Amino acid sequence: MVEVPTAESRILAAYRARTPRAAELARQARDLIPSGIVHDSRRTWPYSIYGDRAAGSRKWDVDGNEYVDYYGGHGSLILGHQHPKVIAAIEAQLRKGMHLAAANELEVEWARRIQALVPSAERVRFTSSGTEATQLAIRLARAATGRGRIVRFQSHFHGWHDQVSFGVTDHLDGTPAVGVLAEVAANTTLVKPNDVAAVERVLATQRDAAAVMIEPIGSSSGMIPTSPEVLNALRELTARHGALLIFDEVVTGFRVHPGGAQALYGVVPDITTLAKIVAGGMPGGAVAARKDILDWLDFEVAAASKRERINHQGTHNAHPLSAAAGIATLDLIRDSDVCERASATAARLRAGMNEILEGEGVPWAIYGEHSFFHLHSNPLGEPIRPTTFDARTLTLDALKGKDERVLAKLRLAMLVNGVDLKGFRGGLVSAAHTEADIDVTLDAWRRSLRALKEEEALPRM
Ligand code: PMP
Repeated sequence: MVEVPTAESRILAAYRARTPRAAELARQARDLIPSGIVHDSRRTWPYSIYGDRAAGSRKWDVDGNEYVDYYGGHGSLILGHQHPKVIAAIEAQLRKGMHLAAANELEVEWARRIQALVPSAERVRFTSSGTEATQLAIRLARAATGRGRIVRFQSHFHGWHDQVSFGVTDHLDGTPAVGVLAEVAANTTLVKPNDVAAVERVLATQRDAAAVMIEPIGSSSGMIPTSPEVLNALRELTARHGALLIFDEVVTGFRVHPGGAQALYGVVPDITTLAKIVAGGMPGGAVAARKDILDWLDFEVAAASKRERINHQGTHNAHPLSAAAGIATLDLIRDSDVCERASATAARLRAGMNEILEGEGVPWAIYGEHSFFHLHSNPLGEPIRPTTFDARTLTLDALKGKDERVLAKLRLAMLVNGVDLKGFRGGLVSAAHTEADIDVTLDAWRRSLRALKEEEALPRM
């Protein structure tokens, strides 16, 4: 992780001066919670801000600082924070009841919205998170095919349960992560991102693949981009070899297009996993798949075909508050230009940030598509130009490698200048972000790069 900073860092001193309450809460948290945090990706050196409230594109911390927010509820808030229609829907349900432990009208309406928007959604089953959705998807794939192997791509993230918890940032060779059984890892084959030939070899030679699983625009929301040609090839290969194709649209669903990457590119997987936007900022997830696949959960189908079915419980599946928020969010996505607006704002932001990198002579790049932006800090020191950088020309190592010390300071500098990035990797733009937000962000970007240059030897173009 990050090196202990030099005491004379002006950036660090400014951050500490602005966040005394956060420092105190972080100190208390470390005695209560491992590392004082509840999600690995929120780890911030020397400690995280503590969020207090939010509205639209902005959020405020417990020390009273205001930020333009590009963390976006980890991607769940494409409408921005506290959209009035979403809040009204949650409040209306909150007054009626939180958990009715009965079937609920809202789950019917929620599933109807998903079925109408997502091409693969012949049927829908709700879960409480994206992790649960990918776990259920894998079990369904194994039941439906009678096969065991899951083919995944190095660096693609599908949550934290045993079967997907290695091969993302570590254990890229497919060995099990600590706490995971070797038998579990042995049933996974990891291939390099976009290596269609490797997938073909696995499917043709091993014959036991239940499914190929992918983040359809590439790992970490396109940080390692994947093209529609790869998706088309995987569609054809899986069909030919009797394996299922799983698109993990936990982030891309309802963001890159109202119907997700599958609608955008016209490649329909057998199973889709959803979370984040689907539940409008509340906890929730779903598996949307062909009827014959989700029939493995169906009591009547199992009885009629005299086969065992998959058990599936979950206290908070289709929680009424999540359903209410999800329906309101999906209706706004269906009826307005939410996805296009967020993407257009992100494109302007990426261009503006790259112009500043050029102006400052820093050979880094901001890239990405749709409503995402990623920071390439060029750890291998390649001779790149920010404005013409093409991420598709780089390998996993070149794109994911990082100088964590510099980036940790950059993250703090952006916070000091009023911008909360998604860690130091980039961020997500919502439909609530405005031109004024872009102006604040670009100003913060320029100031942060200059502050960083005073303290660190940044490469020069
Ligand atoms: N899949 C992808 C592509 C994700 O980005 C995430 C969360 N970042 C997950 C699955 C897991 O979702 P959750 O955090 O809701 O468990």
